[in-house]
Amino acid sequence: MGKKIVADLHIHTTFSDGSKTPDEIVRYAKRQHLEAIAISDHDTFGGIDPAKQESNGKITVIPAVELSTKFEGYDLHVLGYFVDYKDSQLVHEVSRFRAARATRAKKIVDNLNDMGVSVDFNRIKHFSAGGAIGRPHIAKALVDTGYVIDESEAFTEYIGYDSPAYVPKYKIHPFEAIKLIKAAGGIPVWAHPGSLGTQDLVQVFVENGLMGIEIYHPNHHFYDRQRFEKLARKYGLLVTGGTDYHGRDTDNEVGTVGINKAQLEQLKAAANKII
Ligand code: AMP
Ligand code: ZN
Ligand code: FE
Ligand code: FE
Repeated sequence: MGKKIVADLHIHTTFSDGSKTPDEIVRYAKRQHLEAIAISDHDTFGGIDPAKQESNGKITVIPAVELSTKFEGYDLHVLGYFVDYKDSQLVHEVSRFRAARATRAKKIVDNLNDMGVSVDFNRIKHFSAGGAIGRPHIAKALVDTGYVIDESEAFTEYIGYDSPAYVPKYKIHPFEAIKLIKAAGGIPVWAHPGSLGTQDLVQVFVENGLMGIEIYHPNHHFYDRQRFEKLARKYGLLVTGGTDYHGRDTDNEVGTVGINKAQLEQLKAAANKII
């Protein structure tokens, strides 16, 4: 089977922390002649219907979501593919994550105020366009009010991990995330496992329902791919991949990282089996 990339399964839009709209993403993906894309925003399904509409049946839009979890001190992300994004329990849970993000953003605003930086929560909310509020939207508000020159300065001066106003995000347990995704007919996948620096966790995740592993990712180099491919074989995991596109100038363009036809078919077959 060919090596040609037919699907990019990791894409963020303006509904979370991406800077391109679902429409822009779909139009670009069509021009690249991709067969499928997954809209995998953090904590929201808001981008999926607009993307489907724009796709006009010419490209498959796979509903997905990326959830942030914490496990024994490790931060790790779980992707859910082919979820029933209208499932009431899933919609409810994911809306709780968004609510927690809003509360956290308010705390960051309070911290900024204490530092003499006055940004308006509503301005931040405006930048999040009704989706999942994150630090990039706070960064935009800081640029907008003239406190910093650009978003990158906002992170180094005010809201980065080591900065004074930083507040961590609400995170769930990865087993919870896996359960939630499965309950909504989706395929839970460990996102960019290379960022963790350990692979010892795979077995316990598989025992708790993990079905796939993201092998192809811009941060994974040749040897990462090799060891994750080996793990996928060992545990019979599905393999996924994508650009983790956020619309930044430095990002790999949509469709330059992803999976081939055979891998896409395997994923689809697994999704059909669940439903
Ligand atoms: P949050 O999920 O609200 O904590 O925001 C995390 C997002 O902020 C990441 O996905 C990036 O898009 C963005 N981000 C994190 N660190 C930086 C940075 N130093 N400069 C620019 N953007 C950043
Ligand atoms: Zn992101
Ligand atoms: Fe991630
Ligand atoms: Fe991501």
